[in-house]
Amino acid sequence: MLHSRPMWARKVGPSALTQPQVFHAANLPVVLHQRATRNGSTQCSAAPSSAAAVCESSVQQRPTSVIRKIRESLVSGEKSAVEITEAYLANLREREPHVRSFLHVSEKALQDAQELDKRIAGGEEVGPLAGVPLGVKDNLCTRDMPSTGGSQILRGYCPPFDATAVAKLRSSGAILVGKTNMDEFGMGSSTEGSAYQVTANPWDLSRIPGGSSGGSAAAVAAGQCAGALGSDTGGSIRQPASFCGVVGLKPSYGRVSRFGLMAYASSLDVVGCFGTSVMDAAILLEAVAGADKNDSTCSPQDVPDYTSNLLPIDGLGSRPLAGIKFGIITETVGDGVDEDVLLAVRQAAAHLESLGASVREVAMPNFSLGLPAYYVLATSEASSNLARYDGVRYGPRAHGEEVMSMYGNSRAQGFGPEVKRRILMGTYALSAGYYDAFYKKAQQVRTVIQRDFKNALQEVDLLLSPVAPTAAYKIGEKVNDPLAMYVGDLMTVNVNLAGLPALVVPCGLAKGGTCGLPVGLQMIGPAFGEESLLRLGHIFEQTLPMSFSAPTLVA
Ligand code: GLN
Repeated sequence: MLHSRPMWARKVGPSALTQPQVFHAANLPVVLHQRATRNGSTQCSAAPSSAAAVCESSVQQRPTSVIRKIRESLVSGEKSAVEITEAYLANLREREPHVRSFLHVSEKALQDAQELDKRIAGGEEVGPLAGVPLGVKDNLCTRDMPSTGGSQILRGYCPPFDATAVAKLRSSGAILVGKTNMDEFGMGSSTEGSAYQVTANPWDLSRIPGGSSGGSAAAVAAGQCAGALGSDTGGSIRQPASFCGVVGLKPSYGRVSRFGLMAYASSLDVVGCFGTSVMDAAILLEAVAGADKNDSTCSPQDVPDYTSNLLPIDGLGSRPLAGIKFGIITETVGDGVDEDVLLAVRQAAAHLESLGASVREVAMPNFSLGLPAYYVLATSEASSNLARYDGVRYGPRAHGEEVMSMYGNSRAQGFGPEVKRRILMGTYALSAGYYDAFYKKAQQVRTVIQRDFKNALQEVDLLLSPVAPTAAYKIGEKVNDPLAMYVGDLMTVNVNLAGLPALVVPCGLAKGGTCGLPVGLQMIGPAFGEESLLRLGHIFEQTLPMSFSAPTLVA
């Protein structure tokens, strides 16, 4: 029964009937069918690549843990870390001219893999991420790679230290293959706000991958790395995960250290992860979570074993969700949401019911207040956080007759238009005379949103919603309309205002592209409820009769 194609897939349209190609066959990335023309290094360009996305019918496969397979093949001696890294790097380079996910590709990855192989040969115990090639969003500091945050003002900046999350990946044995593209300092939803390049969505190269962690999501969807880190201030992990058809996990505020993450809005920022399965997201979270003496907002709560409850599907029985209550947030499934997105989410709900869960709508009447409150609070915090980029403490120094004009010129040259807009908005909201009307009011709304989530999560185990009102849109479609771009964040920002964890799991396909466009289901849990969020998300993912692997690119 679990393998039959559901009715809803037939209703979505012709694209939904096509089985997407499975990319991660045999746990390593496949090589392109035909060599795509290389155009050298990554470019500052929004032009869609000439490669076409091709869908091929494939045997339907349940998402499996790429990370576990890599580690097993390493530990069993079937593959060396060098072989695994070489295969991913070849794939990365092959696809990079089309997808443009990376701002920097590591020159040290193979050397790191060689060292790992030596340690294994010497009988050393290796960590849970041994030999796993991962990407890291460019706003996380890395001591051996530039870290620009997608901004001109940090072009060439090489931090002398690793962010805590990055250091934890390394000590777990991961091989870092590069730094992924992003909207400047995390401000944006498409990667069009990057000072360097626009990343393409591997499902349809003429579309955006989402943002701001679009480079990480696209890299994972394109098989350029096995998993990746991102950051989420208002949806920057969840929305690109949904648009690229991968799993994205935004942890609770304080679950993962922010030390070494370039601050956008410090009361909302979290470090999280992308993978091709819920299991991989769980493995990555376990590796990066936990207390950190360098971040006093990071919780001392123990990190649970997130993976041991993620059982193989055969051990689950026919009604694995019996007794579990889900609530769809009413305000996220109304007007303004694309029909295909609604259909995918409703059918996901029907699937949860078929597994024994109860699903009902939960009204959160204040929900729509979250978006304006977010944009007041996030820009206010950003206006303060970005004061450090002044051509003295950080960033290239522009000429000025005296110190104020030197600051002004450095910032005028270093920041892009969206960052400037937000600094202005934030400065305005914090200025004397406007503070009570904007900043204080937004903080009050934040309290109301937190209370509403708390009440709702006393009635149901998890809340559900779409991730965004549409699937991935065309490059350039919203770039000149910041408000249209902001509205796309409606369904994600409230989760940050409340500091809750949320998981995005692919759940259906909307019309568009050659093979359809992925739609993700957002599952929201109580603070520090990642364990059950991941368990329930895993059951949903493993029983869903569809696979979500990006199409093959053909030149
Ligand atoms: N799109 C949202 C913004 O531009 C969220 C970004 C993020 O989570 N970093 O603020």
